[in-house]
Amino acid sequence: MKKNIFILFVLITLFNCKSDKQDNGKLNIVTTTSMITDLVKNIGGEYINIEGLMGSGVDPHLYKASEGDVTKLVNADIIFYNGLHLEGKLVEVFEKMGSQTKTPIALAEELDKSTLIGSDYFASNYDPHVWFNIEYFKEFANKVTSILSEKDPINAVNYIENEKKYLAKLDTLQGKIKAIIETLPVEKRILVTAHDAFNYFGKNYGFEVVGLQGLSTATEAGVQDVQKLAAFIIDKKVKAIFVESSVPKRTIEALEAAVKSKGHEVSIGGTLYSDALGNAGTIEGTYIGMFEYNVNTIVNALK
Ligand SMILES: [Zn+2]
Repeated sequence: MKKNIFILFVLITLFNCKSDKQDNGKLNIVTTTSMITDLVKNIGGEYINIEGLMGSGVDPHLYKASEGDVTKLVNADIIFYNGLHLEGKLVEVFEKMGSQTKTPIALAEELDKSTLIGSDYFASNYDPHVWFNIEYFKEFANKVTSILSEKDPINAVNYIENEKKYLAKLDTLQGKIKAIIETLPVEKRILVTAHDAFNYFGKNYGFEVVGLQGLSTATEAGVQDVQKLAAFIIDKKVKAIFVESSVPKRTIEALEAAVKSKGHEVSIGGTLYSDALGNAGTIEGTYIGMFEYNVNTIVNALK
């Protein structure tokens, strides 16, 4: 608690000292999750400076701002984050900044909320994992392009051109994914993962989705949750379950052990990238690569 107050104090002090000038004539952008960082890099290209706070394997639900992060946030010309309480521990910092001259942009909160998946148990009342709907991610791209163009009109033509190219790649991705998923029989489309990150994915591609932990990783699964899900897996003859790169493996391993202790077989089908991309330079290190990698992993393991 004390630390939070300190961070807010630093924030306010730095805000008051900060001039509006951009370094080297380029906008300084700060982003939170690696999915958003990748998106903004695609649109902004060489025309922006960008700093992503959360690298590969980082869980946004639990991520707390360091003092270094606060300085980066304060020095940013624009901040893009997911919102809908995904970055649960950053909310206080962002709310404080929202009352200052620069408002951080919560991309998921710009979406038409009546189309989102609701939740009575999650702080925002909506499932925040919206990037697993490619159409929503295209809306993120639209918003980023319009904000960059507005703040840096000289380069607007470049941002618009980059967006056009990126949207075309997202359309190609959508086509590829649908084709891969069509090879998996409908009755085998059951996706069991560490936490509830794949509801939008499930809705779009016809999967029944079950997460061992809820929408946030902040609450751990109990013994009862594990037993209940083990019974479900046995009943539905689910072949494989999946770990996530940003959630400790032990919960899914406990589930695997619970199924096996009842004399049934289930395998761990691989690691999915849910709330963070893979390492930079790998296929899973981009949003497009991550999506294709996940779908291949899921389909191969469940077939
Ligand atoms: Zn999550």
